[in-house]
Amino acid sequence: MDKTLEKDESYMRAALDEAAKAADEDEVPIGAVIVRDGKIIARARNSRERSRCATHHAEILAIEEACRALGGWRLPGTTLYVTLEPCPMCAGAIINARVERVVYGAFDRRFGAMGSLLDLCKYPFNHIPEVKCGVLEEECRGMLSRYFAGKRKKAAPPDQIRFDGEADDPGEALAEFENALRDSEECTLEKMADFFDDRVDMYEEHMRGWAEHYRAIAGLVPPSAVRLLDIGCGSGLELDRIFETFPDIRVTAIDLSEKMLLMLRKKHPDKDIELICGDYFSLCPESGDFDAAVAVETLHHFTFEKKSELFQKIYRSLAPGGVFLECDYIATSKQIEELAFSELERRRRRDGIPDGVFVHFDTPLTLEHELEAIKAAGFSDVNFLGFLPGDGHTAIIRAVK
Ligand SMILES: [Zn+2]
Repeated sequence: MDKTLEKDESYMRAALDEAAKAADEDEVPIGAVIVRDGKIIARARNSRERSRCATHHAEILAIEEACRALGGWRLPGTTLYVTLEPCPMCAGAIINARVERVVYGAFDRRFGAMGSLLDLCKYPFNHIPEVKCGVLEEECRGMLSRYFAGKRKKAAPPDQIRFDGEADDPGEALAEFENALRDSEECTLEKMADFFDDRVDMYEEHMRGWAEHYRAIAGLVPPSAVRLLDIGCGSGLELDRIFETFPDIRVTAIDLSEKMLLMLRKKHPDKDIELICGDYFSLCPESGDFDAAVAVETLHHFTFEKKSELFQKIYRSLAPGGVFLECDYIATSKQIEELAFSELERRRRRDGIPDGVFVHFDTPLTLEHELEAIKAAGFSDVNFLGFLPGDGHTAIIRAVK
């Protein structure tokens, strides 16, 4: 075998070892190493989930480590090995760091910026690395597909869901909320359906951070459930998990966004799903024969009164003994709840939004208010199950009719 290829494959195996560690940590398995003068000077792996940071790709972390090792921001004479084609951010960092050569394994048709989706190295930047692709491609791709196949099969068994997450510190949460309001100050309020129609392409990627919540909700659906109502289903991220355990469950799914519903249908063409496009306040079927109803990340836009009205409808939609599962953003203090509603009012007036027009703006209730509204609807048994580890503001609530 050609000597260079032999060397490239051996360093790519070191990158694959890093990727395997990422998989063990339940991260998308992508690994990278940086080599100079025949020595590995940096090893890193994707750690986006653990660090909850969008920039923590393997290449970025490897470049940071190599800069520390070489004591400067330029990395001349280095080769970066990575198991998946770099994205635009990482390709940019590679160019900035003057990495001399890049060797990658699998192609990335969704985000690849070194040949697949686009090719940043075609532009006349001050520095352009030499690129070699497809080294140990099959192994690199295989590791990713095995990881995703495993993920798809894992709906959480109910006794294994950990509800021991700590609630956010109220002071910090308020400061963060105020920051978010400042950041969005310039934005005009958007109509709810438009908001989601416009974001259909990135929705699933955006919601990936709640993967554990979807699994938890799927794990909480009663084993005997035959009919399920999904309030504000979006593209059906909780349904993806629920269908794994309940392949034959009959679903009625309501959402304002037609595009989201089309995406749901496309993902599950063979499932028994009745799609209802519109406002769940007026379209919630009060048929009394659903075994379970779920509402995931959808109700944090309504007032106490509006929610109370909906909870009554959900109550009536359920069969006796039926279970309502809610998973949603809650305000960790009364100040956040009050601030959100007063800010929404102010912006509605500012943007001239007529009453009754439904806009996208987060107005979470406190846990206390949320539970009060559910209890008032008539549910006999209402329980806050807890927060998942690492998330102190997404409450999971179970109520039984
Ligand atoms: Zn990247």
